[in-house]
Amino acid sequence: AKARGRDGFALYESSLDEAVRERRRLELDLRQALVRDQLEVHYQSIIDLDRGQVLGHEALLRWNHPTRGLVTPDEFIPIAEETGLIVPIGEWVIRRALHEAGSWNGGNQIAINLSPVQIRSPNLVQAVRQALDSSGIAARRVTFEITEGALLRNSEANRAVLLKLREMGIRIALDDFGTGYSSLGYLRSFPFDRIKIDRSFVADVVEQADSQAIIAAVTRLAAALGMRTTAEGVERIEQLDMLRTLGCNEAQGFLIARPVAAADLEEEEAQLALP
Ligand code: C2E
Ligand code: CA
Ligand code: CA
Ligand code: CA
Repeated sequence: AKARGRDGFALYESSLDEAVRERRRLELDLRQALVRDQLEVHYQSIIDLDRGQVLGHEALLRWNHPTRGLVTPDEFIPIAEETGLIVPIGEWVIRRALHEAGSWNGGNQIAINLSPVQIRSPNLVQAVRQALDSSGIAARRVTFEITEGALLRNSEANRAVLLKLREMGIRIALDDFGTGYSSLGYLRSFPFDRIKIDRSFVADVVEQADSQAIIAAVTRLAAALGMRTTAEGVERIEQLDMLRTLGCNEAQGFLIARPVAAADLEEEEAQLALP
């Protein structure tokens, strides 16, 4: 039994080692990703259900790894956050997305995800200001998306940063609503312009009366507070119909459009089935 225990432990230890080594490799590669030009921003259309047209796009980061292929943000953003790399990477995303969106015609919105680590970095507001100036895009066309988790720690300092961005004319969206600690207090104390309803509610909205009730209530609450609602992860036409019935203002998901590189956006939009 003793020998088996030892073997078991050794096995556990070596696979743990392997996981640590794997992570370290990814971290080293990520340090190179920016300078080697392996990062790209893809864009997913968001539609305005009231007006039946494209409202704007969400910028979604992609990493073209030389040997691993496309690495998804869920795999590398946590590493980028722990190492602080998210600060230069996030600033690059802001510059790139504002620059690319600035060259599109029309006054569409561009939405960019902000990590809590970026909100806490002292340079954020200045970096945003510079990116706005050099892209020439109007601040009112820009939305930053932030999760509740991002606000949890250090909420007074975070609030001050959001207020500064808002004073510049930038909009703020509460991302993944309903998945975190969802305190209604947040809706009162932070200056949100929109609430993005997490796709877990959208997934079963056609079948589940509970999800319908929650989405309808959140939408009414948002409207009463002067905010708009965006439903995330819309994959089926029945979901879109239901969301419209429930009063959602905006929708985003594979049914409407997949995230695509800037170069492919025009083609993607030409094929959009608008409500
Ligand atoms: P998110 O902000 O909630 O972004 C939406 C995610 O849902 C994206 O995944 C998008 O591709 C995916 N999605 C869109 N429509 C559908 C649908 O109909 N069905 C399903 N199943 N999924 C859909 P993605 O691009 O893999 O990004 C994952 C997360 O990584 C994002 O979640 C966001 O939290 C984070 N992220 C992405 N880009 C950035 C970035 O530039 N900065 C930071 N800090 N985080 C980012
Ligand atoms: Ca988002
Ligand atoms: Ca989301
Ligand atoms: Ca998410």
